[in-house]
Amino acid sequence: MNGHSAEKAKNKVVIIGGGFAGLAAAVELTERGLPVLLLERRSFLGGRAYSFTDKTTGDVIDNGQHLMMGCYHHTLNFLRKIGSADKLRFQSDSQVDFLEIAGGLPRQSSFKCPSLPAPLHLVAGLMRLQTLSWTDKFKALNVGLALRRLNGNWASLADITVREWLTGLGQSENIQHKFWDLMALATLNELPEIASADMFARVLEQGFMHSREDSTMVISKVGLSDLYTTNARNFIESRGGRVSLNADVAGLEFAGKRVSRIVLRSGEEIIPDALISAVPYFALRRILPAEVVESSDSLRHLNQFNSAPIVSINLWYQNPVMDSGIRRTDRFPYRVGLQ
Ligand SMILES: Cc1cc2nc3c(=O)[nH]c(=O)nc-3n(C[C@H](O)[C@H](O)[C@H](O)COP(=O)(O)OP(=O)(O)OC[C@H]3O[C@@H](n4cnc5c(N)ncnc54)[C@H](O)[C@@H]3O)c2cc1C
Repeated sequence: MNGHSAEKAKNKVVIIGGGFAGLAAAVELTERGLPVLLLERRSFLGGRAYSFTDKTTGDVIDNGQHLMMGCYHHTLNFLRKIGSADKLRFQSDSQVDFLEIAGGLPRQSSFKCPSLPAPLHLVAGLMRLQTLSWTDKFKALNVGLALRRLNGNWASLADITVREWLTGLGQSENIQHKFWDLMALATLNELPEIASADMFARVLEQGFMHSREDSTMVISKVGLSDLYTTNARNFIESRGGRVSLNADVAGLEFAGKRVSRIVLRSGEEIIPDALISAVPYFALRRILPAEVVESSDSLRHLNQFNSAPIVSINLWYQNPVMDSGIRRTDRFPYRVGLQ
């Protein structure tokens, strides 16, 4: 892109990455009247949360964010803002169904929270869970009490794992295996032996301790791409923002602590007034100069992160495997997505 001064006038804020985070940032800023340019490496928006059509069945399959919760306040506000709220299905009361194979036979149970104020709804839900002993159920209350005692002091849990925290709170192997581990894996995408108790305590606090609505599950009635990418793009472009696909950022140049130039793989260059990075840590590490990473207290940690991959497996069953729960649509009653 030649003529940097012309670009500069148009590109006050450049956002790198067209996933949930980048699109949400672009929507927020265009709504406030700031000129935004969003750069996305791929030929489509959505990042890790997108959908595609399965060639064999013709079904729309999601990758990424299958399940949301009422406590995703920012995500839900973003979806409301771009006009996508009616594409969501909300549970009226929090319910998670479990299917376990015990002695070769399937056994179904339900963590179903009644319409009581939080966190009483959670206590009642736990007490009804058939796969746990009464001792386990009462000991589980220790976790709620520990959260109350922490009162937001998450840092005190930063150096212990989920497993260490739960064991220290008297949680038996049975309840960890049948209840807490499932929650930790589903929300943190990491084994309880590795995941930080700090993160897990935040999830429990935000999801279950404040309001009944926060702990309800929310799913999209349509494919993820259909849920938000087109609406978000329309929102941004109809307010003067720009979305550029196939715009792969190859590197950032710095003048002191400020990004002075964005260089695209195509050779184009952009001079931003401000930059928002909405790419994963490994993508950010690739485009930052090594000396900038090394010399910055906040960026140096980029070299210490590791990934915890998620694999989605979609299974099509001939018969129903569970008779309850929330489904996207009655068209695929027997498809189960596993992560
Ligand atoms: C299989 C799977 C299941 C999941 N299930 C859930 C779930 O049930 N509930 C839940 O809450 N979350 C879930 N997640 C997590 C959720 O999908 C992600 O947290 C979310 O999509 C991340 O959004 P993001 O915008 O931060 O990043 P991304 O979606 O990764 O977006 C980053 C974007 O930046 C672009 N980019 C990267 N490098 C460059 C570059 N150099 N130049 C330009 N563009 C670039 C990428 O192409 C991408 O589009 C799941 C994730 C996966 C993979």
